[in-house]
Amino acid sequence: MDRIIRNFGGERSLEGEKPYAGVDAKVYPTYKCEGNCPFCLTEIRPKTREADTEQFLVNFSEEMRKYCEGGGRKVLFTGGEPTEAPDKLLGMLDELKKYQLDLVVLYTNGTNLLRSVELKDEKGVMLTLLKNHGLQNINMSVHHYERQKRLAISETVGKMDNENVFEAVRAEGINLRLNCTLMRDYIGSVGEVKRYIEWAVKCGIKDIYFRDLFHVENRNQRTTPGDKKKLSYTDDQRIDFNKLVADIQQDPDFEAKEQLSRHRDWGQTYIFLYKPTGIQVSFGTLVIGSERPDEATYFTINPNGKMTPNMNASEYSV
Ligand code: SF4
Repeated sequence: MDRIIRNFGGERSLEGEKPYAGVDAKVYPTYKCEGNCPFCLTEIRPKTREADTEQFLVNFSEEMRKYCEGGGRKVLFTGGEPTEAPDKLLGMLDELKKYQLDLVVLYTNGTNLLRSVELKDEKGVMLTLLKNHGLQNINMSVHHYERQKRLAISETVGKMDNENVFEAVRAEGINLRLNCTLMRDYIGSVGEVKRYIEWAVKCGIKDIYFRDLFHVENRNQRTTPGDKKKLSYTDDQRIDFNKLVADIQQDPDFEAKEQLSRHRDWGQTYIFLYKPTGIQVSFGTLVIGSERPDEATYFTINPNGKMTPNMNASEYSV
């Protein structure tokens, strides 16, 4: 049995260790996305080449074996927009049936879910194909309750008929969480958070995650070769996350439930009950770019199907 993983600065024996226990696998099947959101992290991080489906799935299978043997239990498909690579996505879902995992979730902007796709061996509506291949959880990005505001962030994504997509996801029996990015000109205050929750609950949503814009700490050219415009947008739109959480804690409509540390303390999540509607809402913040190269903070699988143990470090190999 292979008990060695790649590790930057050399290889390290894992005998007796579970290096990926509590570490999420973040899988990027493609960088492609029509969204062009002004804060898109895909355009900020370094990129690898994209492997074709066959090679990607061979590499994915090998990396997943290491991940699961190393104690990993959570697989997140993200991007880019993962549904832009449906053959990779369905192939990965099939591969993951081999393992006992705590969570497999698709992060998506939702725009392709109701589209018909024709693949090599099958065709149908994307959402139904995903369900048929075993998907049970979707985390959908919806950054405002007003259509005009959503359009201002992304014309492509903003055009989507959200309510219709939510209904279709529910009809398939798939769990749905909304992911809303906190921004100064959008959802960035307690009042706006409440308006968003009220709108979402009317749409039948029972789980919402409010996400702080990423804090990209390490900004040398090698680690963040990407779009400087996107970085400065995130700096301009970033709210005072700690103050927002403190305000929420003081607000009688919210009841604090739990605080979780993620990604070896680079991320924090605060979970509340929103009493007027009885749903759970979470607030998460994350710093990237300063992860230690000698321990796995993430299990990032890139569009070439290969793993790197961080999000943005200079050891990243292209
Ligand atoms: S939908 Fe997501 S992946 Fe696509 S541009 Fe927006 S932030 Fe980036």
